[in-house]
Amino acid sequence: MKKHRSWAEPWKIKMVEHLRMTSRPERENAIAEAGFNTFLLPSRLVYIDLLTDSGTNAMSDVQWAGLMRGDEAYAGSENFYRLEETVRRYYGYAHVIPTHQGRGAEHLLSRMCIRPGQVVPGNMYFTTTKLHQELAGGRFVDVVIDEAHDPDNLHPFKGNVDLAKLDRVLREAGPDGVAYVCLAGTVNMAGGQPISLANLRDVRALCDRYGVRIYLDATRAVENAYFIKHREPGYAQSTLAEILRKMCDCTDGCTMSAKKDALVNIGGFLALNDAELAEQARNLVVVYEGLHTYGGLAGRDLEAMAIGIAESVDGEHMHARIGQVEYLGEKLIEAGVPIVRPIGGHGVFLNASRFLPHMPREQFPAQALSAALYVDSGVRSMERGAVSAGRDPRTGDHIYPSLELVRLTLPRRVYTQAHMDVTAESCISLYENRDRIVGLKFTHEPKYLRFFQSRFAPVRGDKVLAV
Ligand SMILES: *Cc1c(COP(=O)(O)O)cnc(C)c1O
Repeated sequence: MKKHRSWAEPWKIKMVEHLRMTSRPERENAIAEAGFNTFLLPSRLVYIDLLTDSGTNAMSDVQWAGLMRGDEAYAGSENFYRLEETVRRYYGYAHVIPTHQGRGAEHLLSRMCIRPGQVVPGNMYFTTTKLHQELAGGRFVDVVIDEAHDPDNLHPFKGNVDLAKLDRVLREAGPDGVAYVCLAGTVNMAGGQPISLANLRDVRALCDRYGVRIYLDATRAVENAYFIKHREPGYAQSTLAEILRKMCDCTDGCTMSAKKDALVNIGGFLALNDAELAEQARNLVVVYEGLHTYGGLAGRDLEAMAIGIAESVDGEHMHARIGQVEYLGEKLIEAGVPIVRPIGGHGVFLNASRFLPHMPREQFPAQALSAALYVDSGVRSMERGAVSAGRDPRTGDHIYPSLELVRLTLPRRVYTQAHMDVTAESCISLYENRDRIVGLKFTHEPKYLRFFQSRFAPVRGDKVLAV
Protein backbone atom coordinates (compact mmCIF):
# COMPACT_ATOMS: atom_id res chain seq x y z
CA MET A 1 0.00 0.00 0.00
CA LYS A 2 1.48 3.33 -1.10
CA LYS A 3 0.83 6.23 1.24
CA HIS A 4 1.90 8.82 -1.31
CA ARG A 5 2.22 9.20 -5.05
CA SER A 6 5.20 7.80 -6.93
CA TRP A 7 8.39 9.74 -7.37
CA ALA A 8 9.67 10.29 -10.89
CA GLU A 9 12.82 11.80 -12.27
CA PRO A 10 12.81 15.56 -13.03
CA TRP A 11 14.68 14.91 -16.30
CA LYS A 12 14.51 12.98 -19.55
CA ILE A 13 17.18 10.97 -21.34
CA LYS A 14 19.05 12.72 -24.20
CA MET A 15 21.78 10.19 -24.94
CA VAL A 16 22.22 6.49 -24.28
CA GLU A 17 25.22 4.23 -23.82
CA HIS A 18 24.77 0.67 -25.05
CA LEU A 19 25.45 -2.20 -22.68
CA ARG A 20 26.70 -5.60 -23.71
CA MET A 21 24.65 -8.54 -22.49
CA THR A 22 26.66 -11.53 -21.26
CA SER A 23 25.88 -15.21 -20.82
CA ARG A 24 26.19 -17.03 -17.52
CA PRO A 25 29.23 -19.12 -18.60
CA GLU A 26 30.90 -15.87 -19.70
CA ARG A 27 30.26 -14.35 -16.28
CA GLU A 28 31.43 -17.48 -14.42
CA ASN A 29 34.65 -17.24 -16.32
CA ALA A 30 35.00 -13.49 -15.77
CA ILE A 31 34.50 -13.62 -11.99
CA ALA A 32 37.02 -16.48 -11.65
CA GLU A 33 39.57 -14.46 -13.63
CA ALA A 34 38.81 -11.47 -11.38
CA GLY A 35 39.68 -13.54 -8.31
CA PHE A 36 36.02 -13.34 -7.19
CA ASN A 37 36.52 -9.62 -6.54
CA THR A 38 34.03 -7.40 -8.39
CA PHE A 39 36.60 -4.56 -8.37
CA LEU A 40 38.73 -6.60 -10.76
CA LEU A 41 36.00 -7.14 -13.39
CA PRO A 42 36.31 -5.24 -16.66
CA SER A 43 33.27 -2.96 -16.93
CA ARG A 44 32.52 -4.19 -20.45
CA LEU A 45 31.41 -7.48 -18.85
CA VAL A 46 29.10 -5.75 -16.37
CA TYR A 47 25.42 -5.18 -17.14
CA ILE A 48 24.10 -3.02 -14.26
CA ASP A 49 27.01 -1.43 -12.44
CA LEU A 50 26.12 -0.79 -8.81
CA LEU A 51 29.72 -1.03 -7.58
CA THR A 52 29.72 2.56 -6.43
CA ASP A 53 28.04 5.93 -6.79
CA SER A 54 31.49 7.50 -6.96
CA GLY A 55 32.22 9.33 -10.19
CA THR A 56 29.59 7.24 -11.98
CA ASN A 57 26.96 9.98 -12.14
CA ALA A 58 25.40 11.19 -15.39
CA MET A 59 26.19 14.87 -15.86
CA SER A 60 23.43 17.22 -17.02
CA ASP A 61 23.42 19.00 -20.38
CA VAL A 62 24.30 22.17 -18.47
CA GLN A 63 27.34 20.51 -16.93
CA TRP A 64 28.45 19.19 -20.31
CA ALA A 65 28.05 22.68 -21.74
CA GLY A 66 30.10 23.92 -18.80
CA LEU A 67 33.01 21.73 -19.91
CA MET A 68 33.30 23.96 -22.95
CA ARG A 69 33.83 26.92 -20.65
CA GLY A 70 36.96 25.38 -19.17
CA ASP A 71 39.58 28.06 -18.63
CA GLU A 72 42.74 25.97 -18.78
CA ALA A 73 45.07 28.63 -17.40
CA TYR A 74 47.64 27.14 -15.05
CA ALA A 75 46.91 29.77 -12.40
CA GLY A 76 43.79 31.68 -11.45
CA SER A 77 41.38 29.87 -13.79
CA GLU A 78 37.97 31.52 -14.06
CA ASN A 79 36.41 28.17 -13.18
CA PHE A 80 38.23 28.11 -9.85
CA TYR A 81 36.63 31.38 -8.80
CA ARG A 82 33.21 30.07 -9.79
CA LEU A 83 33.79 26.91 -7.75
CA GLU A 84 35.06 28.91 -4.78
CA GLU A 85 32.00 31.14 -4.85
CA THR A 86 29.66 28.13 -5.18
CA VAL A 87 31.23 26.24 -2.27
CA ARG A 88 31.09 29.39 -0.12
CA ARG A 89 27.44 29.89 -0.98
CA TYR A 90 26.20 26.33 -0.42
CA TYR A 91 28.63 24.95 2.16
CA GLY A 92 29.50 28.26 3.80
CA TYR A 93 33.21 27.75 4.48
CA ALA A 94 35.59 30.67 3.88
CA HIS A 95 38.49 28.91 2.12
CA VAL A 96 38.27 26.41 -0.72
CA ILE A 97 41.16 24.26 -1.96
CA PRO A 98 40.34 21.94 -4.88
CA THR A 99 41.76 18.40 -4.87
CA HIS A 100 41.60 15.64 -7.47
CA GLN A 101 39.08 13.74 -5.34
CA GLY A 102 38.01 13.23 -1.74
CA ARG A 103 41.06 11.34 -0.52
CA GLY A 104 43.31 14.18 -1.74
CA ALA A 105 41.51 16.46 0.72
CA GLU A 106 41.66 13.81 3.45
CA HIS A 107 45.39 13.48 2.92
CA LEU A 108 45.99 17.23 3.34
CA LEU A 109 43.75 17.53 6.41
CA SER A 110 45.25 14.45 8.11
CA ARG A 111 48.80 15.61 7.43
CA MET A 112 48.17 19.10 8.79
CA CYS A 113 46.02 18.32 11.80
CA ILE A 114 47.11 14.93 13.19
CA ARG A 115 50.22 14.42 15.29
CA PRO A 116 51.47 10.86 15.92
CA GLY A 117 49.62 9.23 18.80
CA GLN A 118 46.54 11.44 18.61
CA VAL A 119 43.06 9.97 18.36
CA VAL A 120 40.46 10.97 15.76
CA PRO A 121 36.93 10.18 16.96
CA GLY A 122 34.36 9.65 14.20
CA ASN A 123 30.83 8.36 13.56
CA MET A 124 32.00 5.04 12.11
CA TYR A 125 35.00 4.81 9.86
CA PHE A 126 35.36 5.29 6.14
CA THR A 127 38.11 3.32 4.39
CA THR A 128 40.21 6.11 2.85
CA THR A 129 39.53 8.55 5.70
CA LYS A 130 40.74 6.09 8.33
CA LEU A 131 43.78 5.09 6.30
CA HIS A 132 44.94 8.71 5.92
CA GLN A 133 44.43 9.24 9.63
CA GLU A 134 46.56 6.17 10.36
CA LEU A 135 49.27 7.13 7.85
CA ALA A 136 49.54 10.47 9.68
CA GLY A 137 50.08 8.58 12.95
CA GLY A 138 46.56 8.98 14.30
CA ARG A 139 44.15 6.41 15.61
CA PHE A 140 40.49 6.35 14.62
CA VAL A 141 38.00 5.79 17.45
CA ASP A 142 34.39 4.93 16.66
CA VAL A 143 31.86 7.02 18.60
CA VAL A 144 28.74 6.28 16.54
CA ILE A 145 25.60 5.20 18.45
CA ASP A 146 25.26 1.44 19.03
CA GLU A 147 22.12 1.35 16.86
CA ALA A 148 24.33 1.94 13.80
CA HIS A 149 25.86 -1.50 14.22
CA ASP A 150 22.47 -3.20 14.21
CA PRO A 151 21.17 -3.65 10.63
CA ASP A 152 17.59 -4.17 11.83
CA ASN A 153 17.32 -1.21 14.18
CA LEU A 154 14.93 1.41 12.76
CA HIS A 155 16.50 4.48 14.43
CA PRO A 156 15.94 7.36 11.96
CA PHE A 157 19.45 8.79 12.51
CA LYS A 158 21.83 5.87 12.79
CA GLY A 159 24.70 8.22 11.88
CA ASN A 160 24.37 10.04 15.21
CA VAL A 161 27.28 10.33 17.61
CA ASP A 162 26.95 8.75 21.05
CA LEU A 163 27.72 11.83 23.16
CA ALA A 164 28.71 9.77 26.21
CA LYS A 165 31.21 7.77 24.13
CA LEU A 166 32.64 10.96 22.62
CA ASP A 167 32.85 12.65 26.02
CA ARG A 168 34.76 9.67 27.40
CA VAL A 169 37.21 9.68 24.47
CA LEU A 170 37.83 13.44 24.76
CA ARG A 171 38.28 13.24 28.52
CA GLU A 172 40.62 10.26 28.44
CA ALA A 173 42.76 11.56 25.58
CA GLY A 174 43.13 15.03 27.13
CA PRO A 175 43.45 18.32 25.23
CA ASP A 176 46.63 17.30 23.35
CA GLY A 177 45.53 13.76 22.64
CA VAL A 178 42.73 14.56 20.19
CA ALA A 179 43.43 15.75 16.64
CA TYR A 180 39.84 16.64 15.75
CA VAL A 181 36.45 15.02 15.48
CA CYS A 182 35.61 13.71 12.01
CA LEU A 183 31.91 13.46 11.21
CA ALA A 184 30.32 11.97 8.13
CA GLY A 185 26.79 12.48 6.89
CA THR A 186 25.45 10.17 5.61
CA VAL A 187 27.47 7.31 7.10
CA ASN A 188 28.44 5.01 4.25
CA MET A 189 29.60 1.99 6.24
CA ALA A 190 26.43 1.98 8.36
CA GLY A 191 24.33 1.73 5.20
CA GLY A 192 24.04 5.37 4.15
CA GLN A 193 22.52 6.46 7.47
CA PRO A 194 22.12 10.16 8.34
CA ILE A 195 23.11 12.26 11.33
CA SER A 196 20.52 14.68 12.77
CA LEU A 197 21.03 18.41 13.14
CA ALA A 198 20.18 18.16 16.82
CA ASN A 199 23.00 15.66 17.27
CA LEU A 200 25.43 17.76 15.21
CA ARG A 201 24.66 20.75 17.45
CA ASP A 202 25.19 18.66 20.60
CA VAL A 203 28.52 17.42 19.26
CA ARG A 204 29.50 21.03 18.53
CA ALA A 205 28.64 22.10 22.08
CA LEU A 206 30.62 19.19 23.55
CA CYS A 207 33.64 19.85 21.34
CA ASP A 208 33.55 23.54 22.25
CA ARG A 209 33.87 22.60 25.91
CA TYR A 210 37.07 20.71 25.08
CA GLY A 211 38.32 23.18 22.47
CA VAL A 212 38.29 20.47 19.78
CA ARG A 213 37.56 21.14 16.12
CA ILE A 214 35.08 19.24 13.93
CA TYR A 215 35.63 18.42 10.27
CA LEU A 216 32.76 17.14 8.18
CA ASP A 217 33.11 14.48 5.52
CA ALA A 218 30.63 16.33 3.28
CA THR A 219 30.68 13.72 0.51
CA ARG A 220 26.96 12.94 0.91
CA ALA A 221 25.91 15.87 3.09
CA VAL A 222 23.12 16.88 0.69
CA GLU A 223 21.61 13.39 0.92
CA ASN A 224 21.90 13.77 4.68
CA ALA A 225 20.07 17.11 4.44
CA TYR A 226 17.24 15.34 2.61
CA PHE A 227 16.78 12.92 5.53
CA ILE A 228 16.82 15.80 8.02
CA LYS A 229 14.07 17.53 6.02
CA HIS A 230 11.91 14.40 5.99
CA ARG A 231 12.67 12.85 9.37
CA GLU A 232 13.71 15.54 11.85
CA PRO A 233 10.92 17.65 13.36
CA GLY A 234 11.10 21.32 12.39
CA TYR A 235 12.72 21.13 8.94
CA ALA A 236 9.89 20.02 6.63
CA GLN A 237 9.57 23.56 5.26
CA SER A 238 13.33 24.18 4.88
CA THR A 239 15.15 23.81 1.56
CA LEU A 240 18.00 21.32 1.25
CA ALA A 241 20.36 24.27 0.75
CA GLU A 242 19.26 25.82 4.06
CA ILE A 243 19.70 22.55 5.92
CA LEU A 244 23.10 21.92 4.32
CA ARG A 245 24.31 25.33 5.56
CA LYS A 246 23.05 24.58 9.06
CA MET A 247 24.99 21.31 9.03
CA CYS A 248 28.19 22.92 7.80
CA ASP A 249 27.82 25.78 10.29
CA CYS A 250 28.27 23.24 13.10
CA THR A 251 31.73 22.37 11.79
CA ASP A 252 35.10 24.00 11.10
CA GLY A 253 35.64 22.72 7.58
CA CYS A 254 35.09 19.75 5.34
CA THR A 255 36.64 17.23 3.02
CA MET A 256 34.57 16.53 -0.07
CA SER A 257 34.46 13.86 -2.72
CA ALA A 258 32.51 15.70 -5.42
CA LYS A 259 32.21 12.36 -7.26
CA LYS A 260 29.13 11.60 -5.13
CA ASP A 261 26.63 14.37 -4.22
CA ALA A 262 28.13 16.93 -6.61
CA LEU A 263 27.29 14.94 -9.76
CA VAL A 264 30.68 14.89 -11.46
CA ASN A 265 32.98 12.11 -12.62
CA ILE A 266 36.08 13.48 -10.89
CA GLY A 267 36.79 16.18 -8.32
CA GLY A 268 36.85 17.15 -4.68
CA PHE A 269 37.87 19.89 -2.31
CA LEU A 270 39.05 20.79 1.15
CA ALA A 271 37.18 23.72 2.70
CA LEU A 272 38.26 25.47 5.90
CA ASN A 273 37.26 28.42 8.03
CA ASP A 274 40.67 28.93 9.70
CA ALA A 275 42.73 31.31 7.51
CA GLU A 276 46.10 30.12 8.81
CA LEU A 277 45.30 26.44 8.29
CA ALA A 278 43.98 27.25 4.81
CA GLU A 279 47.28 28.96 3.96
CA GLN A 280 49.13 25.84 5.09
CA ALA A 281 46.80 23.69 2.95
CA ARG A 282 47.35 25.91 -0.11
CA ASN A 283 51.06 25.33 0.33
CA LEU A 284 50.75 21.58 0.84
CA VAL A 285 48.36 21.06 -2.10
CA VAL A 286 51.11 22.24 -4.46
CA VAL A 287 53.26 19.30 -3.36
CA TYR A 288 50.65 16.57 -3.74
CA GLU A 289 47.91 17.71 -6.12
CA GLY A 290 48.71 20.88 -8.05
CA LEU A 291 48.51 24.64 -7.66
CA HIS A 292 45.85 25.81 -5.16
CA THR A 293 43.60 27.10 -7.96
CA TYR A 294 43.30 23.73 -9.71
CA GLY A 295 44.27 20.98 -7.24
CA GLY A 296 44.97 18.30 -9.84
CA LEU A 297 41.89 19.04 -11.95
CA ALA A 298 41.33 20.64 -15.33
CA GLY A 299 39.49 23.97 -15.41
CA ARG A 300 36.54 22.22 -17.08
CA ASP A 301 36.30 19.77 -14.16
CA LEU A 302 36.08 22.69 -11.73
CA GLU A 303 33.27 24.18 -13.82
CA ALA A 304 31.29 20.92 -13.93
CA MET A 305 31.73 20.60 -10.16
CA ALA A 306 30.43 24.14 -9.51
CA ILE A 307 27.34 23.46 -11.64
CA GLY A 308 26.86 20.02 -10.09
CA ILE A 309 26.89 21.43 -6.55
CA ALA A 310 24.03 23.79 -7.43
CA GLU A 311 22.08 20.93 -9.08
CA SER A 312 22.65 18.62 -6.10
CA VAL A 313 20.64 20.77 -3.67
CA ASP A 314 17.57 20.80 -5.92
CA GLY A 315 14.77 19.17 -3.92
CA GLU A 316 13.19 17.40 -6.91
CA HIS A 317 16.52 15.91 -7.94
CA MET A 318 17.14 14.54 -4.46
CA HIS A 319 13.57 13.28 -4.11
CA ALA A 320 14.01 11.17 -7.26
CA ARG A 321 17.52 10.11 -6.28
CA ILE A 322 16.53 8.78 -2.87
CA GLY A 323 13.13 7.65 -4.22
CA GLN A 324 14.91 5.26 -6.58
CA VAL A 325 16.99 3.81 -3.74
CA GLU A 326 13.80 3.33 -1.70
CA TYR A 327 12.06 1.70 -4.65
CA LEU A 328 14.75 -0.97 -4.88
CA GLY A 329 14.93 -1.40 -1.10
CA GLU A 330 11.18 -1.77 -0.66
CA LYS A 331 11.02 -4.45 -3.37
CA LEU A 332 13.62 -6.47 -1.48
CA ILE A 333 11.92 -5.98 1.89
CA GLU A 334 8.59 -7.12 0.40
CA ALA A 335 10.26 -10.32 -0.81
CA GLY A 336 11.80 -10.96 2.61
CA VAL A 337 15.41 -10.37 1.52
CA PRO A 338 17.41 -9.16 4.56
CA ILE A 339 18.69 -5.60 4.01
CA VAL A 340 19.90 -2.83 6.29
CA ARG A 341 17.03 -0.69 7.53
CA PRO A 342 16.06 2.09 7.34
CA ILE A 343 16.91 2.12 3.61
CA GLY A 344 19.96 4.37 3.16
CA GLY A 345 20.63 7.36 0.98
CA HIS A 346 22.91 6.12 -1.77
CA GLY A 347 22.29 2.43 -1.89
CA VAL A 348 20.65 -0.68 -0.61
CA PHE A 349 22.80 -2.85 1.62
CA LEU A 350 22.16 -6.59 1.68
CA ASN A 351 22.73 -8.09 5.11
CA ALA A 352 25.02 -10.96 4.11
CA SER A 353 25.15 -12.41 7.64
CA ARG A 354 21.41 -13.05 7.57
CA PHE A 355 21.34 -13.80 3.84
CA LEU A 356 23.91 -16.61 4.29
CA PRO A 357 23.54 -17.74 7.92
CA HIS A 358 25.17 -21.08 7.08
CA MET A 359 28.44 -19.45 6.02
CA PRO A 360 31.12 -18.69 8.66
CA ARG A 361 32.58 -15.15 8.78
CA GLU A 362 36.01 -16.60 7.88
CA GLN A 363 34.57 -17.43 4.44
CA PHE A 364 33.63 -13.78 3.78
CA PRO A 365 29.89 -14.14 3.11
CA ALA A 366 29.50 -10.63 1.69
CA GLN A 367 32.38 -11.12 -0.75
CA ALA A 368 30.84 -14.44 -1.87
CA LEU A 369 27.34 -12.97 -2.20
CA SER A 370 28.65 -10.07 -4.28
CA ALA A 371 30.45 -12.48 -6.64
CA ALA A 372 27.36 -14.74 -6.88
CA LEU A 373 25.12 -11.78 -7.74
CA TYR A 374 27.38 -10.95 -10.66
CA VAL A 375 27.27 -14.55 -11.90
CA ASP A 376 23.49 -14.63 -11.65
CA SER A 377 22.67 -11.42 -13.52
CA GLY A 378 25.72 -9.31 -14.40
CA VAL A 379 24.85 -6.85 -11.60
CA ARG A 380 28.04 -5.56 -10.00
CA SER A 381 27.96 -4.76 -6.28
CA MET A 382 30.69 -4.55 -3.63
CA GLU A 383 31.58 -6.03 -0.30
CA ARG A 384 31.30 -3.90 2.83
CA GLY A 385 32.29 -6.22 5.63
CA ALA A 386 35.38 -7.99 6.91
CA VAL A 387 37.34 -7.66 3.66
CA SER A 388 36.79 -3.88 3.63
CA ALA A 389 37.60 -3.60 7.35
CA GLY A 390 41.10 -5.05 6.85
CA ARG A 391 43.38 -6.12 9.66
CA ASP A 392 43.94 -4.65 13.10
CA PRO A 393 47.20 -2.64 12.73
CA ARG A 394 48.26 -3.73 16.24
CA THR A 395 47.49 -7.47 16.23
CA GLY A 396 47.51 -8.19 12.49
CA ASP A 397 44.25 -10.17 12.79
CA HIS A 398 41.25 -9.83 10.48
CA ILE A 399 38.71 -7.34 11.83
CA TYR A 400 35.18 -8.74 11.81
CA PRO A 401 32.85 -5.72 12.01
CA SER A 402 29.30 -6.35 13.21
CA LEU A 403 28.07 -5.41 9.74
CA GLU A 404 28.79 -7.86 6.92
CA LEU A 405 27.13 -6.19 3.93
CA VAL A 406 26.88 -6.15 0.16
CA ARG A 407 26.33 -2.65 -1.17
CA LEU A 408 24.12 -2.04 -4.19
CA THR A 409 25.07 1.56 -4.86
CA LEU A 410 23.02 3.64 -7.25
CA PRO A 411 24.82 6.02 -9.57
CA ARG A 412 22.87 9.30 -9.82
CA ARG A 413 20.65 9.80 -12.88
CA VAL A 414 22.00 6.68 -14.66
CA TYR A 415 19.66 3.68 -14.38
CA THR A 416 15.91 3.27 -14.87
CA GLN A 417 13.22 1.66 -12.79
CA ALA A 418 13.41 -1.43 -15.05
CA HIS A 419 17.09 -1.81 -14.12
CA MET A 420 16.01 -1.75 -10.47
CA ASP A 421 13.46 -4.50 -11.19
CA VAL A 422 16.12 -6.71 -12.80
CA THR A 423 18.43 -6.13 -9.83
CA ALA A 424 15.71 -6.93 -7.29
CA GLU A 425 14.69 -10.10 -9.15
CA SER A 426 18.29 -11.33 -9.16
CA CYS A 427 18.70 -10.70 -5.40
CA ILE A 428 15.40 -12.44 -4.68
CA SER A 429 16.31 -15.45 -6.80
CA LEU A 430 19.70 -15.73 -5.08
CA TYR A 431 18.02 -15.52 -1.69
CA GLU A 432 15.74 -18.40 -2.65
CA ASN A 433 18.80 -20.39 -3.78
CA ARG A 434 21.15 -19.20 -1.04
CA ASP A 435 22.37 -22.72 -0.22
CA ARG A 436 24.14 -22.75 -3.60
CA ILE A 437 26.47 -19.86 -2.67
CA VAL A 438 29.97 -21.06 -1.76
CA GLY A 439 32.34 -19.28 0.67
CA LEU A 440 35.71 -17.80 -0.30
CA LYS A 441 39.30 -17.77 0.95
CA PHE A 442 42.10 -15.28 0.24
CA THR A 443 44.66 -16.11 -2.43
CA HIS A 444 46.19 -12.61 -2.58
CA GLU A 445 45.94 -9.85 0.02
CA PRO A 446 47.43 -6.38 -0.58
CA LYS A 447 48.58 -4.29 2.37
CA TYR A 448 46.50 -1.12 1.89
CA LEU A 449 42.73 -0.93 1.26
CA ARG A 450 42.79 -4.62 0.49
CA PHE A 451 39.19 -4.82 -0.74
CA PHE A 452 40.16 -3.10 -4.00
CA GLN A 453 42.72 -5.65 -5.19
CA SER A 454 42.34 -8.83 -3.12
CA ARG A 455 41.89 -12.14 -4.90
CA PHE A 456 39.96 -15.16 -3.64
CA ALA A 457 39.08 -18.75 -4.48
CA PRO A 458 36.01 -20.79 -3.49
CA VAL A 459 36.55 -22.93 -0.37
CA ARG A 460 35.38 -25.95 -2.38
CA GLY A 461 35.05 -26.57 -6.11
CA ASP A 462 35.72 -23.73 -8.52
CA LYS A 463 32.38 -21.90 -8.55
CA VAL A 464 30.94 -19.30 -6.14
CA LEU A 465 27.40 -20.14 -7.29
CA ALA A 466 26.80 -23.85 -7.72
CA VAL A 467 24.31 -24.88 -10.38
C1 LIG B 1 34.21 8.25 -1.61
C2 LIG B 1 34.35 8.73 -0.24
C3 LIG B 1 35.53 9.31 0.23
C4 LIG B 1 36.80 9.37 -0.61
O1 LIG B 1 36.60 10.11 -1.74
P1 LIG B 1 37.31 9.72 -3.15
O2 LIG B 1 36.77 10.76 -4.07
O3 LIG B 1 36.89 8.33 -3.51
O4 LIG B 1 38.77 9.85 -2.95
C5 LIG B 1 35.55 9.79 1.52
N1 LIG B 1 34.48 9.69 2.33
C6 LIG B 1 33.33 9.11 1.93
C7 LIG B 1 32.17 9.03 2.86
C8 LIG B 1 33.23 8.61 0.64
O5 LIG B 1 32.10 8.03 0.25
